[in-house]
Amino acid sequence: MNSMLEISFAVVGLIIGSFTNVLIHRLPQGESVVWPGSHCPSCKHKLRTMDLVPVLSFLFLKGRCRYCRAPISRQYPLVEILSAAGYWLVYRYYGLSIESLAGCVLVTILLCAAFTDLQTGLIPDRLTYPGILAGLALAWFTIGLQSALLGSLGFAVLFFVIAVASRGGMGGGDIKLAGVIGAFIGWQGALVTFVLASLLGGLAAGYLLARGQADRKSAIRFGPYLALGAFITLIWGKQIVAFYLSTL
Ligand SMILES: [Zn+2]
Repeated sequence: MNSMLEISFAVVGLIIGSFTNVLIHRLPQGESVVWPGSHCPSCKHKLRTMDLVPVLSFLFLKGRCRYCRAPISRQYPLVEILSAAGYWLVYRYYGLSIESLAGCVLVTILLCAAFTDLQTGLIPDRLTYPGILAGLALAWFTIGLQSALLGSLGFAVLFFVIAVASRGGMGGGDIKLAGVIGAFIGWQGALVTFVLASLLGGLAAGYLLARGQADRKSAIRFGPYLALGAFITLIWGKQIVAFYLSTL
């Protein structure tokens, strides 16, 4: 492994993570993602390049706007760090390849989906529809178009059935996000993702129930678990399956 390339992937992840914050903020509102430039959500002051350096600006400004001193959400550096870590892990596993490119695109889509779902309870179509197309196009060079189509359609149909059976416990955004994930990692990956996401979501729901912060009727936001499950599958899916098979 080339450490310069490792660092490069992490830095690109940081920079794309900064743009991912813009997407998370603007996609649900139907705003343009390129215009106008970034501004403080509190005082609307236009942010300059030195205010937008991933993570470092946040640390240097001690988490406050340079112009109005309003606190900046910790989500900004968090998304940037997760993005950098995701890109780095993708490179560690896939090296310098077209699979890495697809993996990084998926990481960015998953981060957007998880955080828009956490904030608004919705995963925007402006993310998932292009995501499905990108996944199918990249699959041509990675897992093959057939596997991607099968994964995308199969995983979306599975979530559609769950949505109907649970009478709205699962949203339309989850169905489309499942379609994105299947397109990128195929039906085998989708299966592993489903098991992991159900485990993670089940654990979290149990924890919230036990603490009295949710009741059996509250719809859980499944997007973040689906996204986390897909990321774990992207990086460690093969090891997980091998380990599971070795215990049979
Ligand atoms: Zn401000």
